[in-house]
Amino acid sequence: MIISEKQLSQVNDRIQALITADSFYGKKLKEAGISGARSAEDFVKLPFSEKCDLRDAYPLGLMTAPEEKIVRIHSSSGTTGKPVIIPYTRKDVDDWTIMFKRCYEMAGMNSMDRVHITPGYGLWTAGIGFQAGSELLGAMSIPMGPGNTEKQLTMMIDMGSTILCSTSSYALLLAEEIQKRGIRDKIKLRKGIIGSERWGDKMREYISSTLGIQLYDIYGLTEIYGPGIGIDCDENSGIHYWDDYLYFEVVDPVTLENLPDGELGELVITTLVKEGAPLIRYRTHDLTRILPGKCACGSPFPRIDRIMGRTDDMMKIKGVNVFPSQIEEILKEFSELSSEYQIRISHLDGRDTMRIYVETTGHHDFEELSRRITERFKSRIGFTPLVKIVEIGVLPRSEKKTRRVIDERYE
Ligand code: ZN
Repeated sequence: MIISEKQLSQVNDRIQALITADSFYGKKLKEAGISGARSAEDFVKLPFSEKCDLRDAYPLGLMTAPEEKIVRIHSSSGTTGKPVIIPYTRKDVDDWTIMFKRCYEMAGMNSMDRVHITPGYGLWTAGIGFQAGSELLGAMSIPMGPGNTEKQLTMMIDMGSTILCSTSSYALLLAEEIQKRGIRDKIKLRKGIIGSERWGDKMREYISSTLGIQLYDIYGLTEIYGPGIGIDCDENSGIHYWDDYLYFEVVDPVTLENLPDGELGELVITTLVKEGAPLIRYRTHDLTRILPGKCACGSPFPRIDRIMGRTDDMMKIKGVNVFPSQIEEILKEFSELSSEYQIRISHLDGRDTMRIYVETTGHHDFEELSRRITERFKSRIGFTPLVKIVEIGVLPRSEKKTRRVIDERYE
């Protein structure tokens, strides 16, 4: 999708703000001799920004608005090293809240909803964003935060929560718990707003059918406001994003060239009106594609496909590039398996070995099932993994992001 004249002028405005503030990226742009982008061709020549660079700006190097205009900071969880600190102005907080409200409206929520918010509060953007959007909509927020499943279920019943906001793995844990206790008839949930990690269709179907609710994928990242910059609609055919606040591109993760709409690559985001910490061409490392054409729901907002994984999750095994989404596609074909899996890659006796742990949903011949799965992998991806079958419930489920790929070659 080519950048519009209006978006281009907003980008130029942000570049000016960065340079004037002499902030971390302002200095970088100045050093690179960049003062703006006159055309779409100029725009794609602008340098990318990266999370690892953002860390170098710690603590407040990204601050681009005068300090008296900064009302809050958030921080993204770095897995290694220093965190990234993102300063927000009043307008940034308000814009984010407006985007979040739009997400809720896209999901068909209204002021009579009771919104059960399980994402965490604090330095993270999660909980507070879910709550601000819910309050702007006029719904009733129930700010649970994560953990304490017992209390979650009690409050869910007593408060008559109608909307569940959570990660997919926590929604799965709650769904399993509700089923185990046989309390579905006491639960008033009608929709789930599920964010922050990639999940397969199988898991989606299980949560949706067990709880009898409709699910929506909400998208976002702390560096770019937080969750709420996009969501899927009733058609469940991709994530609508707010192109009056953000410009999305998809690039080849290796060559960094722009890809045509419809092709799978890395999502790159430019903030159009952000004041506290504008970002130009920020590499998300999320794998998706821009979906061409209008959505059947009639919304004028453009769409990306569901997030298919991380470009960093790309595994090179025996010279073959493999994405976790391809593995999920194959496992989904087996009705004997749950939606959970774990992959361990190791280097033994001079060879890469991939072990896949999967869970059975019932009593099956483990040996025969494992043989069929192995054969399917061989024919679809081109190498032979070691398939290990375990009983249901054995693989880890967590309230935060579940780590499904463990590469022991580098640990
Ligand atoms: Zn739609």
